[in-house]
Amino acid sequence: MLYFRACPRCELGAVEAKEDWDGYYFLCLNCGFVLECRSASMTSALLVEEQRNLETVA
Ligand SMILES: [Zn+2]
Repeated sequence: MLYFRACPRCELGAVEAKEDWDGYYFLCLNCGFVLECRSASMTSALLVEEQRNLETVA
């Protein structure tokens, strides 16, 4: 599964959903950004990343 222009870092890269023994993760084919997630949904992954950012700010 490919998500075009879905990368939270470079915002232009296509993000590919991958699965390994530890769960799902998303790899940006443009900048190499890796986003780990337990769910196979890119939306869930982005929400997790958003929460992480909020925790960092707070
Ligand atoms: Zn990227």
